[in-house]
Amino acid sequence: MKWEYMREEEFGPAIEKSGGLCVMCLGCLEKHGTHLPVGTDSLKGDKIVELAADRAGVVMFPTTAWLGDVVSAHSITDPAATNKRGFIGINPHTLLTVLEELCDEIARNGFRKILICNSHGGNTGLLAYFLRAQRYKKKSYVTMTCNAYDMGAHLRPANMLALAKKDPAYFSMLTEEDYATLEKFSDPSTVLGHACFMETMLIYGTYPELVAPERLGEESGLSTHRADYLAKLGVSTACAWPSNYPNSYMGTDPIGCSKTLGEAAVKMSVDRLTQIFEAIRDDEECVNMELGAGPS
Ligand SMILES: [Zn+2]
Repeated sequence: MKWEYMREEEFGPAIEKSGGLCVMCLGCLEKHGTHLPVGTDSLKGDKIVELAADRAGVVMFPTTAWLGDVVSAHSITDPAATNKRGFIGINPHTLLTVLEELCDEIARNGFRKILICNSHGGNTGLLAYFLRAQRYKKKSYVTMTCNAYDMGAHLRPANMLALAKKDPAYFSMLTEEDYATLEKFSDPSTVLGHACFMETMLIYGTYPELVAPERLGEESGLSTHRADYLAKLGVSTACAWPSNYPNSYMGTDPIGCSKTLGEAAVKMSVDRLTQIFEAIRDDEECVNMELGAGPS
């Protein structure tokens, strides 16, 4: 159920059906190589969250594509940042304020559980801090986060290949070429990370018309290693990633990625997220824990 599609009197029954759960996606606007659009994270995340929310019968809040933490939008040495067009980088303090007020408003409408589905790696630190800040403010509702899809495990080509071999019926859309492509990208030397094979699959599965495979090869997705010495020292800096990947592309060129691989990746992602939404929809313990109440 999409929040913006409902009428005022429909909220009561929708909140009941949702188990008090409202879900939203948090993506960003930033360059994703030259073969994917700047809205990649918001587009693929929003679509997967929307499909899963429909399946689980929970309400989805209409978040906007620009709401996200994009530290690489700002270049110190090139203030005009002509190579950063399309990026939107809002101060994280502002983002935290906007997120808090959004969650407060969602709760004022009667929701008790808010689940933010993250679709951009750069939001991870912000969201971890946000959860803690919300806890300190002793809200009357619970704020939770999850990933909109699982890039750490089942979207990795080697894992996807293993799953497809185990359950070919579930992956009936895959062609022989897709299996060969997954095999090729299962090689441990494959670089995955940003605008990579996994993200390209998800855009093929959600907005295939926005993928421009003919542009692969224009810019490198490999590291310059400029900031590696800091990592070796165990030192973190916000500019390490953009210094190593100045093209906003981290990946082996996903040549051979296809619409059918995208269909499989989106199917797995929607199934996974539906399970998460259903579990939280039917759970009251998460609210009791947040509010300090005893077990239900
Ligand atoms: Zn991305």
